Amino acid sequence: MLAQRTALFKSPDSSWTAAEAASATSGQVIDLTAEEIWSELAPTVREGAIIAIHRDLNCPTGPVDLLQLREALARKISAETDQSWSADEIAVTSGPKQGLFNVAMALLNPGDEVLIPVPYWSTFPVQIGIAGGTPIFVETRHNNYVPKLTELAAAVTSKTKAIVVNTPNNPTGVIYDRVTMADIAQLAIDQDLWIIFDECYGAFAHAPYVHYSIISVAPHVRERTLIVNSLSKPLALTGIRVGYLAGPKTVISATKALQSHTSSSRDIIAQHALLHHLNSGDTAFQERLQLHVRNARALGLSILSTLRLVPTPAAQGGFYFYLDLSELRRRAKARGRELNIDDVVNVLLMDAGVATMSGTAFGDPAGVRLSYGIDLQLLEKGLRRLTATLNTWN
Ligand code: PLP
Repeated sequence: MLAQRTALFKSPDSSWTAAEAASATSGQVIDLTAEEIWSELAPTVREGAIIAIHRDLNCPTGPVDLLQLREALARKISAETDQSWSADEIAVTSGPKQGLFNVAMALLNPGDEVLIPVPYWSTFPVQIGIAGGTPIFVETRHNNYVPKLTELAAAVTSKTKAIVVNTPNNPTGVIYDRVTMADIAQLAIDQDLWIIFDECYGAFAHAPYVHYSIISVAPHVRERTLIVNSLSKPLALTGIRVGYLAGPKTVISATKALQSHTSSSRDIIAQHALLHHLNSGDTAFQERLQLHVRNARALGLSILSTLRLVPTPAAQGGFYFYLDLSELRRRAKARGRELNIDDVVNVLLMDAGVATMSGTAFGDPAGVRLSYGIDLQLLEKGLRRLTATLNTWN
């Protein structure tokens, strides 16, 4: 008999549709589900890994991890937050997912509530549940996917411990503006909340939109904020499992203590590869990816603007288009038919040959997420198929 908590593990994961797509039609499907950019390894990262192997590096770095890497990350975070950070305020994690998990485990007591704007990246509520907390969902679709301060405040109870702030947002592609962030920061101060600030897509802000660290907007929230980030999205390194946390030393130490009993050290070759990249100061690869994503976004928006009953998505940051199918659903309902978003995703897969992510994975019954970090020709083909299919519905 499995532990009861395994029921919490069953939340949908983004890999589902991709796997189904691959097996369903053996390669005919264009996969718009990826949470990563498809790319070769950054030369600086490859070089760093090779040097580390040639140096025969093989010792565990312990739960505190490589000091030089934390120092390099401290310099990066200092530049991004306009404040000075030291290595002991930083933890290296096996990707940002582990960072988020460690934070939930370090902060939450059983029954503690955590506010999560909806739609949300599906891992947030699952991890909070595993840590014994209760996710409290706050809808945002009616406000262009930006949480309203009044609605966040109304959701706060005596049990509320934290709020998840994910900007640029997965899945909506929305970037919170400075006013929204300042408001959230003030709410956190007034209600004594932690802010779990996931800025994993921060390197992809599409002009005129700008991504800010919440700490640069409201410096006084630093003592109650945990920054979760990594280079896995900006450098297309999702297989090299290095992420990081930055925050108050007490929380960071607790996450390291937890990590010492779970995964222990992070991979030493991966840590050196990242350190080599950061020390190189070479931004060419990241800029190339950013350019690719910008081009993909422009191409995608021009195709998606031909959708008749679906608004053109915001796509302010990250590399996701999030389609709002509310109007199609409303029209179907007026004709006595329920348009289930999982069924829409299945039709797109089977009829149009395009794999997409259903909004139900993100707590939203009306959205479909399309990832555009892929090859431009494939993207164009996939989006043309998708728009042709959706435009036949009215
Ligand atoms: N945070 C957000 C908002 C994400 O979308 C993801 C992955 O898609 C992560 C964290 C985790 O990133 P990684 O896959 O590098 O662990």
